[in-house]
Amino acid sequence: VTRVRIAPSPTGSPHVGTAYIALYNYCFAKSRGGQFVLRIEDTDQSRSKPVYEEMILNALRWTGLSWDEGPDVGGPHGPYRQSERTEIYREHLTRLLDAGHAYKCFCTPQRLEALREEQRAAGAHIGYDGLCGRLEPAEIAAREAENLPYTVRMRIPDDGVCTVQDPLRGEVEFEYRLIDHQVLMKSDGFPTYHLANVVDDHLMGITHVIRGEEWLPSLPKHILLYEYFGWQAPQVIHLPLLRNEDGSKLSKRKNPTSILYYRDLGILPKALLNFLGTMAYSQPDGAEVFSLDEMVASFDIQRMSLGGPIFTLDKLNWLNQKHVATLSEDEILTHLKEWRFNDDFLRRLIPVMSKRIHKLGDFMKHCDFFFYSDLAYDKALLAPKGKEPEDTRDFLQKLVWELEKVVDFQKEALEAAIVKVAQIHGWNLRQATHAVRVAVTGKTVAPPMFEVLEIVGSDVSRNRMMQAIQ
Ligand code: ATP
Ligand code: GLU
Repeated sequence: VTRVRIAPSPTGSPHVGTAYIALYNYCFAKSRGGQFVLRIEDTDQSRSKPVYEEMILNALRWTGLSWDEGPDVGGPHGPYRQSERTEIYREHLTRLLDAGHAYKCFCTPQRLEALREEQRAAGAHIGYDGLCGRLEPAEIAAREAENLPYTVRMRIPDDGVCTVQDPLRGEVEFEYRLIDHQVLMKSDGFPTYHLANVVDDHLMGITHVIRGEEWLPSLPKHILLYEYFGWQAPQVIHLPLLRNEDGSKLSKRKNPTSILYYRDLGILPKALLNFLGTMAYSQPDGAEVFSLDEMVASFDIQRMSLGGPIFTLDKLNWLNQKHVATLSEDEILTHLKEWRFNDDFLRRLIPVMSKRIHKLGDFMKHCDFFFYSDLAYDKALLAPKGKEPEDTRDFLQKLVWELEKVVDFQKEALEAAIVKVAQIHGWNLRQATHAVRVAVTGKTVAPPMFEVLEIVGSDVSRNRMMQAIQ
């Protein structure tokens, strides 16, 4: 039976790229009567956050994709969160060490840095030189006795070629001498992506790995690991990455990349899936507007094209309009309620509004910007008194960068971020909040700024600031 998976790392806002890869995995599995698994790859202790995991699950669920197994729905191959599987990785690592396929590396970060410097200066290939892989057993024992910190690296043959058959690319070749002795376990005892990913794909019975092209260079390491373990490798298919209109890799500098941004904007989930379903893919009958079920019904992975698909917002908006046009009045009502006109959302507006409304009919006048997809206002209003537009743009850009780092988009953290950027920029807080207020609400007078930002949310707030300075 066909089993595929999506394996997001909870290190940031749920990326549209994750939904894109998930969509093709889903279609592949369902068109073959197979199963689609969701696994959380949270082995990077410093960057992974539970709040991001929750956001990823919510965002993917919102798109309308569903998974047969995962941390939230369970399943026979759990746990589905890598941080709960460390014992499994340790056992597998021991197997590799015992068989001599991996070795402990005691090199200090200083030595590794010096080595890189040396290689850079010599114009040589940058990579570990295998020093610790050549240690005698007695030397290893001595270092262990000293309790020196170590990582574990996999052995890579000195020469030869790794040849892999990729269904979309044909035969792909990698020269072993160009491949680094990959770290499999970090000094904190946590596995790296490469080890955990291979072990889990095997133990979870994954038959096909469908993932982004960015992982293609890792493929020979993974294939080698399957060989070392004596396992059959799954078929691996690398999909082209989404691109900005200028052809570069889709990036939040040039496009909103969070699924939640599109949700908050009022894009219909099925329009987003339809849109992603036109990225690198076309329906056999040429249809532009289609549903997930229709996509599954005729799905053929061979129809994927490798040219980088351009993420075009105009196309998404056009598709969304087509989907809205097919909705019944009741369906529109349901969508509106789910989107903004639900008690949870409205209740959040009351505390910031209640003092301002004299009549109920004043409500919309004060909080229209919570409901708009695009704001219309005069950009000349953005600059605080005595500040130039250029200076204001500069301030807002710095603030957007700072806000990208705010994980918990709450009043205290927001205030701290704005105060920090204002100080660096030499503005006072009043000037700073003025520019932010106009950018995010389109008004010079609005309810308390930090509360407003909290409700508007990270993705839409940052995007409005970006639009303000374009
Ligand atoms: P950064 O903005 O820090 O460079 P990123 O945009 O590459 O990060 P990641 O956090 O590295 O985003 O990736 C999150 C997920 O989204 C990964 O699973 C990655 O495969 C996917 N992803 C990122 N960019 C793209 C893209 N252009 N096309 C398809 N998938 C992508
Ligand atoms: N955790 C990896 C990511 O975030 C998964 C890559 C893969 O599918 O192998 O992209």
